[in-house]
Amino acid sequence: MERVVFLVDMNAFYISCEQTRHPEIGGKPAVVAGDPENRTGIVLTANYEARKYGIKTTMILREAFRLCPGLIVIPPDHRFYSQKSKEVMEILSSYTPVIEQNSIDEAWLDMTGCEGLSGSPVEAASDIMKRINQELNLWCSIGISENKFLAKMASEMKKPHGITQLWKKDIQEKMWPLPAGNLYGVGKQTAAKLHNMGIYSIRDLALHDRANLISMLGKTGDELYMLANGNDDSPVRPNAYDDMKSVGRSVTLSHDITDIEYAKSVLLELSEDVGMTARKYGKKGRTIQISIKFTDFKSMTRQMTVPPTCLVKDIYSTGVKLLEKNWSKKPVRLLGISLSGFDNEYESEQLSLFKMPEINDENHEKEKNKKTDDLENAIFNIRTKYGSSIIKTGTSATGYSEENSKK
Ligand SMILES: [Mg+2]
Repeated sequence: MERVVFLVDMNAFYISCEQTRHPEIGGKPAVVAGDPENRTGIVLTANYEARKYGIKTTMILREAFRLCPGLIVIPPDHRFYSQKSKEVMEILSSYTPVIEQNSIDEAWLDMTGCEGLSGSPVEAASDIMKRINQELNLWCSIGISENKFLAKMASEMKKPHGITQLWKKDIQEKMWPLPAGNLYGVGKQTAAKLHNMGIYSIRDLALHDRANLISMLGKTGDELYMLANGNDDSPVRPNAYDDMKSVGRSVTLSHDITDIEYAKSVLLELSEDVGMTARKYGKKGRTIQISIKFTDFKSMTRQMTVPPTCLVKDIYSTGVKLLEKNWSKKPVRLLGISLSGFDNEYESEQLSLFKMPEINDENHEKEKNKKTDDLENAIFNIRTKYGSSIIKTGTSATGYSEENSKK
């Protein structure tokens, strides 16, 4: 049976989530970004109106305001986006049990053999898009193909609200004309190497001598050759959180940076994401690692061992320590942070993000208060130093209710 794979990708996810509870931003340029008051935060998602002004993800807010003085800025609320993501995944689960979540805002679905139930692939995709829109007031793009790689490439072709089929038979016409750098998985470094080899388009890559690619780029060369020819056998693998070895996030910056304070604000956003994810799956880790890639493509990773944690403040403050120890004047291109070293001994039962435990017993109450005090101090210090977007971070990690966390 021919495989059918979808990649469902939510459009401008964070800001679209915000629009569901702030309908007044509809049609106006708006972004989700940290620290609006000081204008030192970074843009996490821009809506399509803001993108028309040239505003991009990871752009520093000050720069975004220069491009669009009337820009609406909403501070990030990761708990809310996780909840929305869960709701999206629930809708997707009603179409197939074989789902692999690739990030907070996208997932692969193995739809092989679903025709009887959901109709043709395009009919099923239209239905998914319609349900997500009607039930959640969010939009997605869907790529359809016979493998994960082509489905991902297809989903990128028409945004927003696009449904694109890209079967292997269509690749010469639809995919080969694209720049080699557009191939999913090809970073700037590899794209530069390909350019040096005279490979500019995906077509160039697909028709290049395979042995030469392998000799120049090793295993990656072979992988790229296979992908450019539309070959990908990897299965859609439902996420198995028991096997989770680490939780990490990284971001390629929209411009090279040398300012450590800016790097810290990037690290804060990443740490928040890592902490929330670890917490969601009941994971506490003992190793915190940062990775830095420089503009000369050299990279560096540094790690530190800490008592088992999933708290954003721990992840962030360790990340900052590592960053301060290793910061030089060398311009930075990419920053990442991860939590690993999970140990079953330290795994508590699933900590719910959305339903916090009720504690009645008096001792528990005391313990809770002490923890809260410590945490509040830490939050206060970080907040004073780096601005307001950290506040939600700390409170969502302690298990406060929303009301308590409001200023
Ligand atoms: Mg995505």
